[in-house]
Amino acid sequence: MALTFCVANQKGGVGKTTTAVNLSSALSGLKQRVLLIDLDPQGNATTGSGVSKDSITETVYPLLFGQASFEKVVIHSEDAGYDILPANRELAGAEVELVQLEDRDERLKNILKEQNDNYDFVIIDCPPSLSMLTINALCSARGVIVPMQCEYFAMEGLTDLIGSVKRIQAAKNPDLTLIGLLRVMFDPRVTLQQQVSEQLKEYFGDKVFKTVIPRNVRLAEAPSYGLPGVLYDKSSKGAKAYQEFGAEFLKRMKKYKKQSKEK
Ligand code: ADP
Ligand code: MG
Repeated sequence: MALTFCVANQKGGVGKTTTAVNLSSALSGLKQRVLLIDLDPQGNATTGSGVSKDSITETVYPLLFGQASFEKVVIHSEDAGYDILPANRELAGAEVELVQLEDRDERLKNILKEQNDNYDFVIIDCPPSLSMLTINALCSARGVIVPMQCEYFAMEGLTDLIGSVKRIQAAKNPDLTLIGLLRVMFDPRVTLQQQVSEQLKEYFGDKVFKTVIPRNVRLAEAPSYGLPGVLYDKSSKGAKAYQEFGAEFLKRMKKYKKQSKEK
């Protein structure tokens, strides 16, 4: 049975897409069948997976509204190693249209139900807001992965996100769990980052992933070559860190896999 996770943080530029793409690629390197869903109209996860936004005819947008089948929309990225439901700027229109539908929160969940046997993991790259699209992701997911920079205001945004997770959990999706916080773009030379990192560990304990993703220019360069960072320069510090994160994540998932089998 597929386990679905969303990579969320309502701030922009905090490493959500980089995490979603590299986690997907690292997991597929570990022989997992992965579907990556680009749920951000910016379409960065699409491009970052080597799929040109201009070349696609169908996207996750018509899929959400029952106007295209899953099979028509899904693309296998040979380079990246996983399947992707691509997005482009059209998806921005989905917000307004979703509001008008009765089952607006659970459109994505219902689509994914039918793919349960086809994947081990579904990873959703969320837009930088707590919008209808993000709500669809949270309603579909077993858990949330939160990438964050260890900066002064990082904690503030986190409280809002955790509030939303709790609300969705109470109202719509009792299984939803905060899986973990991933420290990204980390620079150990910056004292403030070290301090915030320590605070995170004190406050969230085991929820903080052990792996730390360093700031690494190779990770930032990778999308322009249409490759996940873990494949673009395998020997770079950033690639190694995301590989390690993939392994840590998979280990953490054993418990959840077992639970979903018992259900
Ligand atoms: P989000 O999806 O949250 O908006 P992105 O993953 O797109 O964030 O990251 C924002 C920018 O930071 C991008 O230009 C990306 O390439 C860069 N970036 C992300 N993670 C790292 C990292 N660990 N080191 C260096 N640059 C990074
Ligand atoms: Mg993004």
